[in-house]
Amino acid sequence: MIKRIFKFSLMLFFGYGCTNIFDSDSYRETVVVLTFDDAHSSIYETAFPLMQKFGFPATNYINTGILNSDDRLTVEELHILEDEGGWETGGHTVHHVNLPQIDIEEAEAEIAGGWKFLKDHNLKNRTFALPSGHANIEVTKIIKKYFHSIRGSEDFKMKYPVDRYSLGYYDARNNDGSEKIIGRILRGITHHECVVIIGFHYIIADKEMHSRAITPQEFEEILEFLHERKLKVMTVSEMLGEF
Ligand SMILES: [Zn+2]
Repeated sequence: MIKRIFKFSLMLFFGYGCTNIFDSDSYRETVVVLTFDDAHSSIYETAFPLMQKFGFPATNYINTGILNSDDRLTVEELHILEDEGGWETGGHTVHHVNLPQIDIEEAEAEIAGGWKFLKDHNLKNRTFALPSGHANIEVTKIIKKYFHSIRGSEDFKMKYPVDRYSLGYYDARNNDGSEKIIGRILRGITHHECVVIIGFHYIIADKEMHSRAITPQEFEEILEFLHERKLKVMTVSEMLGEF
């Protein structure tokens, strides 16, 4: 026991990597999680076939009020992503609201409404992404009533033990290029981060259309890198089962 406490202190001091501190043989390789937000149709039409080529699943955060509308995903597509691709659907409120800035009753209706929609349509509903990364204590308490994990919008190192209610992510932008995103993953491996989450919104050829768009070619280059490096790619909930 004393030996364990000593080891624990040392690891805290040196900021050791993704290791279960009570089991020195449990050194874990960095897991990569790919997430999509906001239900753009390119997620199904463009990203999904590329993901299938490599057998990678993703976590798909959906603001449910936007589904089935112009250039957005349909419920049927969400089922195909889950059933054929092993994807996980997650909550993102009904209308992509700024949760701390609205009445708490309205915030609960937005959070619970999204959760219930997914449940009523037999879709997965374990994880939640904060719209634009905004939360406060009251909002977080409500989210925890419905969901098992929360992803925000900040990028930080996620080391052992991973806090499932405070997950970070790298927000892929149209001026990044695949090199910068791959560079972020490599940095995570070097620093023994348990997980690196990369978040995408639009996968479209004309990436100047949106600051959060990247091209299909850039997206495929990232997937090729993950495949060549034999990195583990998991959904958020699968990853949390590992750590
Ligand atoms: Zn969003």
